Amino acid sequence: MRFPYCQHRHTLPDPESLALDIKGLGVSYSTEGKLALKDFDLSVPVGSIMALVGPNGAGKSTLFKAICGLLPIRTGGIRIFGRCLTECHHRVVYLPQKSRIDWQFPVSVLDLVIMGRYVYLGWFQRPKLSDIQEAKKALREMNILDLANRQISKLSGGQQQRVLIARALAQNADLLLLDEPMNAVDTATRQLVADVLHKIKDQGKTAIVATHYYDQQEGRYDGAIFLRDGQRMRDGLTHQESSHKGCDCE
Ligand code: ADP
Ligand code: MG
Repeated sequence: MRFPYCQHRHTLPDPESLALDIKGLGVSYSTEGKLALKDFDLSVPVGSIMALVGPNGAGKSTLFKAICGLLPIRTGGIRIFGRCLTECHHRVVYLPQKSRIDWQFPVSVLDLVIMGRYVYLGWFQRPKLSDIQEAKKALREMNILDLANRQISKLSGGQQQRVLIARALAQNADLLLLDEPMNAVDTATRQLVADVLHKIKDQGKTAIVATHYYDQQEGRYDGAIFLRDGQRMRDGLTHQESSHKGCDCE
């Protein structure tokens, strides 16, 4: 199958592979600029839910953007399900921090969630009934189907977070990168996010959740990745490191 947003063919995952395999990654925001991530290694097995923990400016969002192919890679490489980034965009969804979204943009909740389906649509192709149904299913999962026709400018902080998660669920990706989904939301939304993480895990999917705070007692995560000043600190998960094959396509 050929996905419309790029000219690369959909490639089946390597069944033996890690969900995410990063070796020696160095990333900066400009070609000559300071590295925002340095010599970063990470192996995440399929089906695990990991916390990405670090203070402001540690490099959490930078790591997510690099995994999505939004930043130029200066050193090292990233493989997703054993494949290189360009083969796997549709398998990864990045949920940005809600503070980074323009909530005044004139669009309804349903339309925003349908955007999660765009990886499956061709250029200028309108969403099909099945895309609308997927979007509504995600809204139902986040208990906000009743908000479908509301403008996104009229949402509370917790509702905004639920809408972003619904958009991520609608994409039906296998690797979810959630940027501070627990930040500045009400207790009910926090609990719902925790429930969604359990569901994601039950479906055999993989998630990384950026957070400032990690409570080992929570039991929500399989392990933690600690980040400071763009460098990995220590690990909370023991797993087999796989050998990195290098990225052989552009
Ligand atoms: P976190 O998400 O952990 O708060 P970030 O990944 O946003 O941290 O930032 C990591 C580093 O990258 C910081 O030093 C930050 O100043 C820098 N940075 C983030 N965004 C940009 C950008 N758009 N341009 C240049 N530098 C950036
Ligand atoms: Mg951030």
